[in-house]
Amino acid sequence: MIKTELGTLRRSHYSNELNPSMDGLEVTIMGWVLTIRGHGNISFATIRDKNGDIPIVAKKGDCPDELREKLSILKAHSSIAITGRIKSSEKAPTGFEIIPSELRVFSDVEKIPPFEPLAKTVKNIDTRLEVRPIDLRRKTLQHIFNARSQVLKSIRDYFYQQNFIEINTPKMIATATEGGAALFPIFYYNKEAFLAQSPQLYKEQLIMSFEKVFEIAPIFRAEPSRTNRHLAEAISVDLEEAFVDYNDVMNRIEDIIKIAIVTVSDYAKNNSDVEFIIPSKPEHIPRYSYDELIEKMQKAGAKTEWGDDLYPSNLKKIGVEGFYFIKDWPLGPKPFYVKDSKTNPKISESFDLMFGDLELSSGSTRIEKRHELEERMKNKGMKTDAFEYHLGAFDYGVPPHAGCGIGLERLIMALTGTENIRDVTFYPRDVDRLTP
Ligand code: ATP
Ligand code: MN
Repeated sequence: MIKTELGTLRRSHYSNELNPSMDGLEVTIMGWVLTIRGHGNISFATIRDKNGDIPIVAKKGDCPDELREKLSILKAHSSIAITGRIKSSEKAPTGFEIIPSELRVFSDVEKIPPFEPLAKTVKNIDTRLEVRPIDLRRKTLQHIFNARSQVLKSIRDYFYQQNFIEINTPKMIATATEGGAALFPIFYYNKEAFLAQSPQLYKEQLIMSFEKVFEIAPIFRAEPSRTNRHLAEAISVDLEEAFVDYNDVMNRIEDIIKIAIVTVSDYAKNNSDVEFIIPSKPEHIPRYSYDELIEKMQKAGAKTEWGDDLYPSNLKKIGVEGFYFIKDWPLGPKPFYVKDSKTNPKISESFDLMFGDLELSSGSTRIEKRHELEERMKNKGMKTDAFEYHLGAFDYGVPPHAGCGIGLERLIMALTGTENIRDVTFYPRDVDRLTP
């Protein structure tokens, strides 16, 4: 009888812990069936666990008939355990194979997924997203999400080394952060509330007491964007710091980008089949002013004038590439909390971090004086009453401060050369997708 329960059986080794020098050792491995090939009296299987692949060879006479017969008819993705002996073998790419003596089949697969487990690329992303947990078993995605996890760890490590405190702010909120319309309304008991589009106001309040804060959490954006770079729910790496300005924040971002590139490069070094397109580590990330780029665009023949957004098509015309900052944006379109330049009131102390034409981050020096905030809100037609819960803090000594939000998915796109933001998101949410 082939057993189907885990019971007390436990894995003895992961795939990457096995090698030919362990010849003769009995091991128990667990994972899922990647491939099976049966030739009458002999079956070859490859079992994959989270770290790699293990070759199994079941030959008549070497292992129980029942085991060999069952193994040969298993379908890809079945979840199994095998106990057997390691046999060094020059023919096997790993230098060894496992001769099974016991097989357990926890989940016997009946269905054939709409793509091969070994497929490197599957064109239609919707086909994949419909069976996302299976899609995520593919090596390409395994590498993206493992690298993403490493990048998150290295960013967290950086913040802790720099004495930042990790915060969590509410995601159900009463008013829009920026007074915009692009919010998801929700039922909150008997009131209307919204999903937070940014932790902006809370992180600004928290620097009053903690000075250096960061948060890695979802932001919700209701603009109905159908692009390869917008999600309805994204992860934002937010930082906010007291007694600094936007130049210091750009320095921090520069540190973070360098650390993240090293992390992804190390990941690729340790995994030979990784196919990321990793940007080279910049010595220094160039900082162009908005004025400078507009002028360049005009010289390059672009029809654009001061005050316009810097469109991707125009950025292409002037050939800016890799990582760079665009700083000192016109104040007009910037949110109310962004500080104006003390030398030119039409300009703000703000920046975007770019990778080619992809925006990775926006940041700025913030206003610390209540009357300036109120003036900016009034100019924008915002009702200050609705923000009293926030403005009230500014009656009690808010220090000068600055910060930014970095889009995690966009950063991972840039670090791995991934075109579609959905491929760096476990379960993407967009205009057309709320499942799985
Ligand atoms: P964009 O102009 O690209 O739509 P934004 O300027 O509206 O972005 P910000 O409010 O500046 O976005 O948010 C800070 C960062 O968060 C962005 O630079 C980006 O990396 C990320 N981000 C914002 N909105 C989204 C989204 N809808 N999907 C994925 N990431 C996002
Ligand atoms: Mn922005």
